[in-house]
Amino acid sequence: MFTRILVAIDGSESAKKAFEESIYLAQKCSSKLDLVHVVSCELGGDSATTFELIDELKTKAEKMLDEYKTLAAKNNVSIEIMVIQGDPAQVIIELAKTKKHDLIIMGTRGKSAFQELLIGSVSQKVMHHASCPVMVIR
Ligand code: ATP
Ligand code: MG
Repeated sequence: MFTRILVAIDGSESAKKAFEESIYLAQKCSSKLDLVHVVSCELGGDSATTFELIDELKTKAEKMLDEYKTLAAKNNVSIEIMVIQGDPAQVIIELAKTKKHDLIIMGTRGKSAFQELLIGSVSQKVMHHASCPVMVIR
C-alpha cells in the first residue's frame, strides 16, 4: 500500500506540511516519493520576456525541490523531483495516472491570497478528478 506517492509542492507553508507528512508516511510504508512543482501556464504569450520568466521560475523551483530532496535523503526516503510546465491540477492528475501513483499528497491551501476559501482550486480539482486516493493536509 502507498508504494509510490506523488507530492505536490507550490512553495507554500501548506505544501511544506504535506511534504512533512509524506516523509512520515514514506518511512512507515517504505514508499518512494515523487515531488512535483508545476510552473503555471497562465503566464501565456510567446515573447522573449515570457520565456525568460518561465526559465527563471523553473530554476527557482528546481532549487526549492533540491532542498526537499536533501531533507528526504537525511530521512532515508527515496525521492525524485520534477518541474513541469502546465496547468497545475491537470499536470498532477495526468502524472498520477501515467506514473501509477497510489496516493497524492497535497496541502489544503497554497500561495493564493484568497484566505477565506476553505480549500484551494488546485486541491479541489485534483480531489474531484484524480484516479487514486488524495490526502489533503491541513
Ligand atoms: P488558488 O490557487 O485556488 O487561488 P490556493 O493557492 O490557496 O488557492 P491551491 O493552489 O489549491 O490553493 O493549493 C493547494 C495545494 O495544491 C498546495 O498546498 C500544493 O500541494 C498544491 N499545488 C498548488 N499549486 C501547485 C503547483 N503549481 N505545483 C504543485 N503543486 C501545487
Ligand atoms: Mg494556488
